[in-house]
Amino acid sequence: MKLKILGSAAGGGFPQWNCACRNCSGLRAGKLHAQPRTQTQIAFSPDDHAWFLIGASPDLRAQLLCSPQLAPSPDSPGQVPIGGVFLPSADVDAAMGLLHLREFQTFFVFATAGVQRALRSENRIFKVLERGDPPVQWQVLSSRGRLGCHLSESPGELPTFVCNTIPLGGDYPDYVSDEFRRAAAPDDATVGFLIELEGKKIFIAPSLAGHTGEWQKLAASADLVLIDGTFWSSDELRRTGRTSKTAREIGHIPLSGADGLLAQFPADAQGRKILIHINNTNPILDEDSPEHRAVLEAGFEIAYDGLSISL
Ligand SMILES: [Zn+2]
Repeated sequence: MKLKILGSAAGGGFPQWNCACRNCSGLRAGKLHAQPRTQTQIAFSPDDHAWFLIGASPDLRAQLLCSPQLAPSPDSPGQVPIGGVFLPSADVDAAMGLLHLREFQTFFVFATAGVQRALRSENRIFKVLERGDPPVQWQVLSSRGRLGCHLSESPGELPTFVCNTIPLGGDYPDYVSDEFRRAAAPDDATVGFLIELEGKKIFIAPSLAGHTGEWQKLAASADLVLIDGTFWSSDELRRTGRTSKTAREIGHIPLSGADGLLAQFPADAQGRKILIHINNTNPILDEDSPEHRAVLEAGFEIAYDGLSISL
């Protein structure tokens, strides 16, 4: 299995257009030892031909153009290697990129019923995906489910890969109506994925609220973990002055602290563990910072755009 990180930052990217925090200003001025990053986007391929996207980032068009393996072949015009998109949530940062895939293309979108309703009933703009012939195919994921995906047409064959979903405790995006929020299943709002292929497991949870410890079992069982590295501390975003909310209030367990991700991550996990969805305010982006050193010493890697992994 191949996996590529096309983008590794949280919403807004790094630097963020309206942010003058220490990181963003330092990067713009060339005074910070750090790499710019686009918004989180993951792609994986079970067979090196068909590719699947996890989320659809606002930077998706540019990210696809940087990835020759995701380009259409002149031998089969109209055919793209992208078979489908797995949506972890209906957040703008996870779903806006679908609008970059609107050029009369057919593909699958896998999402919970709640996420589908948020995108398709609360927003008419996603109807643009119905222009393909056949139109984009929306498939329902259970928030606690196991879906076998077949790339072969031959009947009776085992699935090429299996996608397990678990609820990660996030909330629906701000844009949904109060009526929607009252009726929607909370577990459908944000899900994580455990992809199984040829005995290998990848656990993907870019937005982890950490209200329950259910994620820890999956993280411990996986050969590769891509997990929420959004914030170092819970009040980090508040210090920018743009919001009064803490990291936890917007659905992200911070990295530091006794109840933070570094402390809560299962000590017996054997797999490779990579922090992704890193907010521009996070001090781990500064490669000379003690926080950057601390996560490396804890055995984590920090995702960067273009990171390719073979399992
Ligand atoms: Zn910033």
